[in-house]
Amino acid sequence: MVKFKLIKVTQILNPTSINLGDYVINPYKGCQYGCLYCYVKQNKTVQNKEKGWGSYVEVKINAKEILEKELRIKKPQTVLLGSITECFQPIEEKYKITYNILKILNKYGVFYYILTRSPYIQKYIDLFSEGFCKKIYFTINNIPEELRTKLENKSPSYEERFKAIEKLKKANIEVIPYYSPILPFVSEVKDIFKRFHNIKHIEFEGLNFKVTNIKAIIDNISSLYPAIKALYERMLLDKQYYETYWQKVKELITKEARKNKKELRLYIYKFNAYFNNIYSK
Ligand code: SF4
Repeated sequence: MVKFKLIKVTQILNPTSINLGDYVINPYKGCQYGCLYCYVKQNKTVQNKEKGWGSYVEVKINAKEILEKELRIKKPQTVLLGSITECFQPIEEKYKITYNILKILNKYGVFYYILTRSPYIQKYIDLFSEGFCKKIYFTINNIPEELRTKLENKSPSYEERFKAIEKLKKANIEVIPYYSPILPFVSEVKDIFKRFHNIKHIEFEGLNFKVTNIKAIIDNISSLYPAIKALYERMLLDKQYYETYWQKVKELITKEARKNKKELRLYIYKFNAYFNNIYSK
């Protein structure tokens, strides 16, 4: 069960090296979706050693007041929402922390980017239509449902996400489907372009083998597809095999993008000898 705690913060605009804003805003600490392959949980500022990822959320109850004070001093041009949490997770419906933050950003004319995987975001289309929402990166995937329930059991279904993307797009909100993570030997990236008729640009990200619980991820995948375990273990050890695999994925996606007249961006993590150390721990 997820435990919620109301907290007061002294700062809500936090400096960042991510090139999508001068500052990041995270209305919550923790995330009730608790996706297994989430790498946010490795971030020391959100870790809670006693509680498992996905079992706690701290609600920044005074975010609105603090934001207004900080905006007057820091005067950012652009901010990024949701770098280490999901701004539109179910608890948002009760506390509306993100909603109030967006209202303040609109009021002060601050532009924003958003990272999300939650269809609840479509409730705020009116706020985005005021013109300060630069882009929404909407995480999607299309792995088989039986695997989804193992890896991201509590997060919204892919169908709900696809519908939310369509709705945002119809409202003329700039939305980028962000296909992540591509799971080697499992993900069917080929057909994804056909899902989005009126969207020009799609981004992709390969599985991050550096995530600390990579063993749990591989174990869950191979509990359904036992033959895959050996292939993943080879990817962890064999640089050439790893690079050749991703090169083929790149070629396939590029070809499909061309065929469907879409633009794409693909992020693949560089091979690191460290991968296998994490896995073998
Ligand atoms: S929704 Fe995002 S922040 Fe939340 S657990 Fe999943 S990947 Fe992590």
